Amino acid sequence: MTKEQIEKRYNELVNGIEKKRMYDGRNTVDRYVCDTCEYMIHTTYKDKGVTPFTMRCTRCGGTMYHTKTFDKKTVPPYVMVFDWYRPTLEQTLKMSDGMIDHILNGGLILDSEKW
Ligand SMILES: [Zn+2]
Repeated sequence: MTKEQIEKRYNELVNGIEKKRMYDGRNTVDRYVCDTCEYMIHTTYKDKGVTPFTMRCTRCGGTMYHTKTFDKKTVPPYVMVFDWYRPTLEQTLKMSDGMIDHILNGGLILDSEKW
């Protein structure tokens, strides 16, 4: 894809997603648990979009599975919650082809600066 094609699709996505009929996790907190070392993290949606059911464990390289979803209001403030967010167009343009595809299909990425 050229830079112009990516830009066009990115803008269509951002302009259309609020009206799109799809799951919106912004008022929920998801729990992911590693099936190897049992490391657990909690995440929420900063933007409306798509998140994966599994991800790689940053502690041991195993697989973390989405195990539970909570109402955000019931999660106590001491629980650290990471954000799934949509990168800006500038950030997206610097990514690999696979990641650009993911973003243009509504995919979000996890805010890893807080890890
Ligand atoms: Zn692990």
